[in-house]
Order: sequence, then structure tokens, then C-alpha cells
Amino acid sequence: MSRPPLMALDDALAALLAQAAPLAREDVATFEADGRVLAQDLVSALQVPAFDNSAMDGYALRYADVAAPGALLPVSQRIAAGGTGAPLQAGTAARIFTGAPVPPGADAVVMQEDCLAQDDGTVRVQTLPRSGQNIRRAGEDIARGAVVLRAGTRLAPAALGLAASIGLARLPVARRPRVALFSTGDELVMPGEVAPEQLPPGAIYNSNRFFLRALLRRLGCEVTDCGNLPDQREATTEALRGASTDHDVVLTSGGVSVGEEDHVKPAVQQLGHLDLWQIGIKPGKPFACGKVGGAHFIGLPGNPVSSLITFLVLVRPFLLRLQGVQDVAPETVAASAHFNWPKPEKRREFLRVRRNAAGGLDLYPHQGSGVLTSAVWGDGLVDHPAGQTIAHGDTVRFIAFSELM
Ligand code: AMP
Ligand code: MG
Repeated sequence: MSRPPLMALDDALAALLAQAAPLAREDVATFEADGRVLAQDLVSALQVPAFDNSAMDGYALRYADVAAPGALLPVSQRIAAGGTGAPLQAGTAARIFTGAPVPPGADAVVMQEDCLAQDDGTVRVQTLPRSGQNIRRAGEDIARGAVVLRAGTRLAPAALGLAASIGLARLPVARRPRVALFSTGDELVMPGEVAPEQLPPGAIYNSNRFFLRALLRRLGCEVTDCGNLPDQREATTEALRGASTDHDVVLTSGGVSVGEEDHVKPAVQQLGHLDLWQIGIKPGKPFACGKVGGAHFIGLPGNPVSSLITFLVLVRPFLLRLQGVQDVAPETVAASAHFNWPKPEKRREFLRVRRNAAGGLDLYPHQGSGVLTSAVWGDGLVDHPAGQTIAHGDTVRFIAFSELM
């Protein structure tokens, strides 16, 4: 049997991303927008801070009124956060607290640790203040009219705070992708259905269903867990047809290899169209995509690590792009291999590795496509080009799992 030519991962990704027409937008509460993708630039209608304010608990004064350390100034007013002060009388100091507006006329704040309040209502200033010291200037963080966050930004916690700081209670974001998730295979049993000691010969627990669901949710998808499909053409076709009507994406794992028990392929061909790719990566060679009815179809390989890796390198960017993220490539950093990899491979490899205390990477010893332990032990992947070896100390390209999931 002749082998089909391998497709480069970058070509596969480009072809997949070209299919990712952006989803419609909706407004959500800023409180609920963690992980969502902005559909529009956010422009500030005010400057932040809105007014000059004190960075410290202390005393606001005119710095020129303190000729030398130890000067005594009468305390003429007290300004707390949320209050407002009167113009500062020359030759006096204002007791002031962090975040309170600096009164007109004051040009420095001396922190209270450098001051001694006296019983007669004066304060002794123990240091020589500098002009502008401990004053947070109006607009020093954000100017009025500035774009604070760009369309296509995936909102992280600090970004939610930033949006709130310019007064936005709701944010325009891309609609969540609706994803129907299927696993396939007569051998699969759900944890909880059968106890480990009662597992029939040949049966295994369904693991892909668990990590795929979790990955999808972390990527902002609304997931319908459609369960497991039997290895049967009719049932597979009917289930995929049903899911295609009210989902943006139908995602399956297993059943896209080359065996006659792989029923996902003909079902998709019947319902829409199927591209079956042999991608030049290891693990994770077989990958299917196309359409079932109006929904995108993506078929992942069944072996758990293959399923995981193909999801991370292909499906993740696809789902992000659907939501409007432009830069979908994970950050890759140079790192030192603290292992040998003497056998060159025809395919580009994604090795499961872990950062060690010496600043290098250790390799998980079992890199098999079914060994899910490797992905839990590891904290990232080495993206290793085809046809090359790795010797201890070589610089390799590392992608942290925190970049990918
Ligand atoms: P397939 O692509 O359907 O031929 O499956 C390849 C291998 O992955 C077989 O050993 C399957 O038993 C296994 N596999 C498929 N789906 C799952 C799943 N959801 N959880 C765990 N293993 C699976
Ligand atoms: Mg199968």
C-alpha cells in the first residue's frame, strides 16, 4: 500500500485558519468577560487617574516651604480618599491619605514615615522634599481617547480591571463558539459506569472526552458533550447530522485513521465534505476536517496524546481565530535540552518535557502516543524539526503548556 504524502503542519494550520470566519459579537458584563475576546477597540472616555492624587499616606505641601530637613509646618487641612481639599495655604501642610486628591498649590507629598506630627497641630518634616514627589499625575496611566485594549485581545483578569477602570460595565466580545464534542469507539467505557475490576476484556476508559471538554471550555467554547459514538456507520451519520444543525463546530476523536472500523470519515463525506490530512507531526498524524451541514467538522486521532497535541497545535488556534484573535501562535522560547534524542524522525516532533531546577529541559522517557502520563508529568513541549537529532546541551524550542491550555 502506498503512503500518502505528509502535509506540513504550517500548511495544515493555514488551510484550517482560512476557514475560520469570525463569529458574531455580543455584549457581556465585564464581570463575566474573563477569557472572552474583544470584538472592538476599547477607547477611554476619561483620563486615569482622573485627578492628581497622593501615592502615600503623609503630608502634602509646597516643597519650597521646606528649606531644610526638620522644618515645622502647621497642618491646615485633612484630605482622605474620596474627599476633596481646599487650595493649600502657603507655608502649611495638608494631612493626606493614599488616593486622595492633592490640593491645588501643593507640589509634593512627604510620606508619613518621614514626618513627626506634633501635639500643637504642626508637623516636623524630616526630609527635603523634591518637586512632584509621591504625586500620581492625572492621566499618567491612560490619556482620554487612548485605546486601552485592542479588538482581538483575549481578556485576562488584569484586562478586566483595566476595562472597569475606564468605567465599562459591559464589553463587546465574540460570541462563544458552540462545539459539539463526540468520542468514538466500541471499546470505550465511561468512568463510573463500570468499576476498574469489572472492566470487560478489551474495554478501556474514555479519557479524551474529559480533557477535550476541559480544553474547549478554557478556550471560551460552549460545549455540548454528545457522548460516545459506537463504531457503526448509520449511528455515526445520524448523530453528526443532528449536532450539525445547532453548533458551529462538530469535534470528534477517534475513527479517522485508515482501518475499516473508522466510521467517522464516510459519515462526514455523506453529510458535507471531508479533507483527510496526514500531517507530518509526531504524535498525531491523521487529522480530518471539513463540513457537516453548515458546521465546521474537525476529527482528531484517537490515541490520547495524539488527540491532545493535534488539539493544541491546530484546534486551539482555529477556535481562537473564530473568536477574532489574530495572533494565535503560542510563544516559543529557546531552552537547553538536558537529554539526548539520537534518532531523527521524518515528522516534526512534539516531545513532552519538563523544566528542571538547572534551567534545562528533562525528557519524559515514554513518548508513546498513548502515554498520557507524559503530558501530565511534562510542563510543555519541545517543538523539534524533522530529520534532526538532539544532543545534551543543544538549544531547542520550548512551548510551555501554560501557553497552550
Ligand atoms: P482510533 O483512532 O479510533 O483507531 O483510536 C486509536 C486508539 O486510541 C485506540 O487504541 C483507541 O482505543 C484509542 N482511543 C480512541 N478514542 C479514545 C478515547 N476517547 N479515550 C481513550 N482512548 C481512545
Ligand atoms: Mg476507534
